[in-house]
Amino acid sequence: ADSYDEECDYLFKAVLIGDSAVGKSNLLSRFATDEFRLDSKPTIGVEFAYRNVKIGDKIIKAQIWDTAGQERFRAITSSYYRGALGALLVYDISRRTTFRNVKKWMHELREFGNLDMVVVLVGNKSDLGDQRREVSEEEGRNLAEMEGLFFMETSALENVNVEEAFLRMITKIHEITS
Ligand code: GDP
Ligand code: MG
Repeated sequence: ADSYDEECDYLFKAVLIGDSAVGKSNLLSRFATDEFRLDSKPTIGVEFAYRNVKIGDKIIKAQIWDTAGQERFRAITSSYYRGALGALLVYDISRRTTFRNVKKWMHELREFGNLDMVVVLVGNKSDLGDQRREVSEEEGRNLAEMEGLFFMETSALENVNVEEAFLRMITKIHEITS
């Protein structure tokens, strides 16, 4: 059956943000369908995926929005953030510039987002950790602590911690809103 049609108790919107090519779309397709696309092509517009999550006896439908590439042109609009209760803010552990830009994304979240949005800072591409790491796990953790965010390193490629990162956000939103 199509998950769109299933009954659910709650519907949440959450968004993916972060620099271009950090792995947002692959994280989402992992979480939504357990697929990994090696060559995702940015298209125009907003894309989103749903996944139902069971917490206790409740079914939560998480609607996760993806940018479809507009971050490249700094063209994410306020409607992208509107009504979102959570965000995964993603950087690439093998590209320091993407980590430096986390501050810029936090600024945008504060400007356009809900004040009590649940944010998980995600250092993606942990599979490159041995060879090409430019941002240590500790730096990620420290920044998250300073900004009051959750933190996790993930690999969309090897499917490490992807489920955990999304579920951390979704269970926290559920706690706050129920
Ligand atoms: P987006 O622009 O943030 O949506 O990033 P994409 O999901 O399109 O991924 C950008 C590139 O990084 C693609 O070539 C992916 O194959 C690659 N990629 C995404 N996640 C990972 C990961 O966890 N590890 C590695 N090594 N590559 C990844
Ligand atoms: Mg993308």
